[in-house]
Amino acid sequence: MPKGQIMKALSGFYYVKMEDRLIQCRGRGVFRNKNISPLVGDYVHYEFERDQEGTIMEVFDRKNELVRPPIANVDQAILVFSCVEPEFNPGLLDRFLVLIEYHDIEPIICLTKIDLVPKAKLPELESFIEDYRKIGYQVVITSSETAEGLENLLPLLKDKLSVFAGQSGVGKSSLLNALRPDLELKTAGISTHLGRGKHTTRHVELMDVNGGAVADTPGFSSLELMEMEVNDVTFCMPEFQRASEKCKFRGCLHINEPKCAVKTGVEEGTIPAYRYDHYLQFIQEIQDRKPRY
Ligand code: GDP
Ligand code: ZN
Repeated sequence: MPKGQIMKALSGFYYVKMEDRLIQCRGRGVFRNKNISPLVGDYVHYEFERDQEGTIMEVFDRKNELVRPPIANVDQAILVFSCVEPEFNPGLLDRFLVLIEYHDIEPIICLTKIDLVPKAKLPELESFIEDYRKIGYQVVITSSETAEGLENLLPLLKDKLSVFAGQSGVGKSSLLNALRPDLELKTAGISTHLGRGKHTTRHVELMDVNGGAVADTPGFSSLELMEMEVNDVTFCMPEFQRASEKCKFRGCLHINEPKCAVKTGVEEGTIPAYRYDHYLQFIQEIQDRKPRY
């Protein structure tokens, strides 16, 4: 039985990719393994009914599942942040990074609008880039205007399912357009943005970019650290996690405990002070959360 990945779902049909064709499939009411409805990103077994048409027989177990947009099996999130307009915001970046790490998805940082950065601002930006690279993150620097840096982003998309994320106006749709100029997605500017229309029903679609699948709708619009516990945060900040192995106390929160390797790291400059400030904010936010019933 042929196996493929669902690239889009529309009007009761699922479009399953087979080599470079899309097979239009119906889902059965109940699947052999479980009672679920297929999602874009699902790997499925299908049976041919006619030439380009089939029926989905089985949905494979998912690696993960996003709610907005509804996609299964997300490998990586491309965190899109503009260097300027809006100003690069490390606090927001750290929040995205923590959330995405918490979902067990690989983050890639993509800075946009490098063409707009004045020379005087470059050193500050470069020092941020160096910090994040030292932590272990991939950082690519791009401009959709000049196409600079796209050649560094493209290979990272190959063979992966990627979702773009980032606040409105940072250049996500421009970037998607630059990667696949043949598709002409809507560029909305700052006032409106893809994927958040409250009254319009949007469907997600995976587009083929350089042999990888990229969701045409940005994800992670809710940035609340909702389900997290205070101890989770350390594990979502790689350099904190590495340092915390040397903290005296297990479960050290790196706030008031003695012999804390994270605080030592901040004092010695191996952990950026602003990351520690953000860490404290996240802990505070989680502690302030009202109990839910
Ligand atoms: P989105 O809300 O994240 O999808 O952002 P858009 O792609 O709609 O871009 C917001 C605005 O920034 C638009 O006016 C774009 O033309 C502009 N823009 C996006 N990327 C770049 C870039 O790399 N360079 C320049 N100069 N402008 C850009
Ligand atoms: Zn500690």
